[in-house]
Amino acid sequence: MMRQYELVERVRRYNPNADEDLLNRAYVFAMKAHGAQKRASGDPYFSHPLEVAAILTEFKLDDATIVAAMLHDTIEDTPVTREELDRVFGVEIGGLVDGLTKLNKLDFASKHAVQAENFRKLLLAIADDARVLLIKLADRLHNMRTLHYVPAPKRARIAQDTLEIYAPLAGRMGMQGLRSELEDLAFRYLMPEAHQLIIARLEELKSKNGALIARIAAELKDQFARRGIKCDVRGREKQPYSIWRKMERNSIAFEQLSDIYGFRILVEKIEDCYEAVGVAHTTWPSVMGRFKDYISTPKQNDYRSIHTTVVGPGLQRVELQIRTYDMHEIAEYGIAAHALYKDGRSALHTGESGAYRNLRQIIEALSSDDSEKFLEHTKLELFQDQVFCFTPKGRLIALPSGATAIDFAYAVHTDVGNSAVGCKINGRLSPLISVLRNGDEVLIAGSASRTPPAAWDSIVVTGRARAAIRRATREAAKAQFGGLGRQIVERAFERAGRKFSDAKLKTALPRLARHAIDDVFIGVGRGEIYSADVVRAIYPDFQEERRAGPAIAPNESGWFGLARANQLVFRAPGKDPALPLRGLDADTPVRFAPKGGAVPGERIVGIRTPGEGITIYPIHSSALIDFDDKPEQWLDVRWDLDQAKKSLFPTQILVTTLNEPGALGAVASTIGETGANIDTVVFNPTGPDFREIRFDLEVTDIQHLNAVIAQLRDKPVVSKVERISG
Ligand code: MN
Repeated sequence: MMRQYELVERVRRYNPNADEDLLNRAYVFAMKAHGAQKRASGDPYFSHPLEVAAILTEFKLDDATIVAAMLHDTIEDTPVTREELDRVFGVEIGGLVDGLTKLNKLDFASKHAVQAENFRKLLLAIADDARVLLIKLADRLHNMRTLHYVPAPKRARIAQDTLEIYAPLAGRMGMQGLRSELEDLAFRYLMPEAHQLIIARLEELKSKNGALIARIAAELKDQFARRGIKCDVRGREKQPYSIWRKMERNSIAFEQLSDIYGFRILVEKIEDCYEAVGVAHTTWPSVMGRFKDYISTPKQNDYRSIHTTVVGPGLQRVELQIRTYDMHEIAEYGIAAHALYKDGRSALHTGESGAYRNLRQIIEALSSDDSEKFLEHTKLELFQDQVFCFTPKGRLIALPSGATAIDFAYAVHTDVGNSAVGCKINGRLSPLISVLRNGDEVLIAGSASRTPPAAWDSIVVTGRARAAIRRATREAAKAQFGGLGRQIVERAFERAGRKFSDAKLKTALPRLARHAIDDVFIGVGRGEIYSADVVRAIYPDFQEERRAGPAIAPNESGWFGLARANQLVFRAPGKDPALPLRGLDADTPVRFAPKGGAVPGERIVGIRTPGEGITIYPIHSSALIDFDDKPEQWLDVRWDLDQAKKSLFPTQILVTTLNEPGALGAVASTIGETGANIDTVVFNPTGPDFREIRFDLEVTDIQHLNAVIAQLRDKPVVSKVERISG
């Protein structure tokens, strides 16, 4: 295992101003945190994060990255918390380690749910700091290097992920060395026979051709030197995996592969690159169609080089990659090299990591290469509109950006949404309306109630949540109307002196043109069905003497218009405070019953009192009992509302709450949220456990009033809500 001073020494080699104290503290902290934990190899667990840090020193990364690498498994595998890391190492390092913890969760979560391509997108979305990805790749590399200790079935899965996700990601980040090592390690475990075969063939070739590479390299160098080009020539054998891919892609045998050998020619200046190409092409025959100039047209990941293939010394086809030293460094280190050069080396040496701020944009810029179909541009934009969050069990939930915890709850399940009352985001209690961010872990707390507040409708951003909320509020309102309707129906039967039962009503359904008795109740509750019609549907002989037309028809009473229309047309007070009656003597005063006033949408009746005028009651008002034996005073009236101009109507409700601090506030604010006005609040004397509060309200109509009642009933502090019916 690498010693403490060795690691520090490695960092100091490229960054003489490294914070040694910080590195030493991280070393000791991580070692203690992992304690006696062991890896599959039997090594102390700490050897792993240490090796990951060591890999990252090869990329000359800043102190924060090296430290975060040492700590990268502490949150997940030890009792260490994010808060502790923030305290001991600062939020920058804490944030990096936290990012890695989220990525690991993703690893675990989305195995089956997410395609490799989506997975790569997710990695980019969740890592809001490119250094998190660099550490993740180094982590994966070390795990791949030690994969033989892992049990075989798990091995294949890890190797597959490496090949599909991490190696292409390294490629996209321009880190070719890392990419080919990951590919070759994965290849070895996924296709051991093929891998063995290629290794054996390469060995064979090497023994047959002896010092061919060295000979070709020497000749190349000699030719360039003669034309005055100073360069390094490096021979290289192609990686087994890239040989395999080429064999597969072109369906050819190993023997048919022509360019097993490649050479890199490294020069000082760009002009030297083109001169070297000239030398190569005038010295040896070039192979048609193999010349590519990635210097004038760099690849999307900023790779720059000139490629050409010539029939070189010994009639061997050799591929030449010609580039400057700077280009070579970028080709090998990719975005890590960018970090060095973007803002200049000084940024690193002052221990400041501002240079990394731009890295994310670089990754995004890297990500529009068609050939790999990796994050092509349009999809990327689409994708940036999304956030990815997790359930505590690691299930991935993708949501549009701006989504709240309520949307999350509905995305998990409709029932979870409907019963949601609170949530924890990343372990902290948070409001349900909180907007979620990438990587948030969300725990939804539910209640037994299955009715979401209607106000959520305007908060959520997902269609799924909105539809579910509307459905649930509709159901709740229906239940509300149903209960009200049943009361009205039962009263009507009582008043008519007839027997009522659900079974009897059932037989009368066809006459009411309804399919279920609940539909009848809802209809009555909404004022769509007149309760007398329900009585008549069961007892066709029933005559509604009190309210029927002929009973209040007498011309001699002086109510001419009334006799003709058998109806009062009643206007909303907002429109005309005098409440004139259409077609009647405009001088007849009309008013609402002082208690439990009627609101639009419900059936109403007018009671004519000689000398006083007409008083309007809701049909279910208990005050009407007093007029039971005065049929001549009853009038059928109906609403005639100006739909464009909503007016407010007075009504009263009685709310029983638990005797708790804040109960009144909760009730009042719930009423306020529905848009209803509170006119008067009166406390009624009650026992010690409850409080009875009368609210004089103003609402627009019966739906509005019912919504107020439904939402109040949903509040835990509310034990009972009743309408005061006068
Ligand atoms: Mn790890």
